[in-house]
Amino acid sequence: MAYTVNAKIRDLVPYEPIEGHYRIRLDANESFLEPSAELKAEIAQAAAASSFNRYPDPYAEELCRAFAEAYGVRTENVVAGNGSDELISLLFGTFLMKGETAVTLSPDFSMYSFYCGIAEVQHREFRKKPDFSVDVEELAAFVNSTGARMLIFSNPCNPTSVGLKREEIRKLIHSVNALVVLDEAYMDFWDQSMLSETGDFDNLIILKTCSKAVGMAALRLGFAVSNPKLTSLLKAVKSPYNVNAVSQNIGTVILRQKEWLASCLRGILASRNFLSAELKKMEKENPGKISMPDPVTNFVTVMVPDSGSAYRNLLDQGIAVRCFDGFLRVTAGSKSENKEFLSAFSKALTGWGG
Ligand SMILES: *Cc1c(COP(=O)(O)O)cnc(C)c1O
Repeated sequence: MAYTVNAKIRDLVPYEPIEGHYRIRLDANESFLEPSAELKAEIAQAAAASSFNRYPDPYAEELCRAFAEAYGVRTENVVAGNGSDELISLLFGTFLMKGETAVTLSPDFSMYSFYCGIAEVQHREFRKKPDFSVDVEELAAFVNSTGARMLIFSNPCNPTSVGLKREEIRKLIHSVNALVVLDEAYMDFWDQSMLSETGDFDNLIILKTCSKAVGMAALRLGFAVSNPKLTSLLKAVKSPYNVNAVSQNIGTVILRQKEWLASCLRGILASRNFLSAELKKMEKENPGKISMPDPVTNFVTVMVPDSGSAYRNLLDQGIAVRCFDGFLRVTAGSKSENKEFLSAFSKALTGWGG
């Protein structure tokens, strides 16, 4: 028998978040906060209350209701996913026919182009300006000139921490002849959400996740919010039992912890502000060596001339961040993690002949 793997997956290798073990992990934009002992007890109770011998609720009604109440949207407009990753894959695989075109931006979240390839969708990339800004009129013209059926991007953006304001987003959605998928994974940290406006558009889907501000990356919970027609299509095409019962039950408990969620958000923002203020001081002390956009996420983007060597230098000191072409992405961590990163980064800086 002869078997040959197809061309679209032949050269893929399993995703490795990062190789090796590091003392401090500021590379995945997770929350550094853990639930209290009391909340953990509630979580354990919710998990134990699952009907383990039964399939879970295919539409995760209770969970979607808890999400809808937490974010001020209508439950009928919410679909839950096994992380927003699953929903991104679903959108490429079902809202586009093979060979149709999708537009992504660059730099942006790498999973968009990955799932685009798996779905055999044509991929066109719109490059951002060197300061990571986007002219929405240029972007809309690009999307329409490619005949794209879908435009997907994160707002605010991972990995740049730069965002487009609501007014710009509205203009964009109105002017493209395509489905706009707006990934608001980090919008908890900024104030330009479009969540309350999904009903105003026939071509808008917003993605949310419990992996960042909510601090529940382990549960794998993501949500799509859109108008009733798109919501009903998403429900029709998703796999029936995509969110397991344990995650549904725990997620429901967590999303109802209004005060705890608010305190987590305050804690993460305080950490991000500290990290960013200290890096701004370093920027002043090392003119021309580093720079950074004002962050609107739970991470800070630091432009460095030789990001690869700064990255390796930090790894040698036991600290993992994410490395991109020309910049590093550093997740806001606990007080001690931030301090250790800052001192290691300062050492790395003097390492380059300063
Ligand atoms: C982290 C992140 C997500 C979250 O993905 P999950 O699968 O829900 O953990 C989605 N989009 C962007 C841009 C992200 O950075």
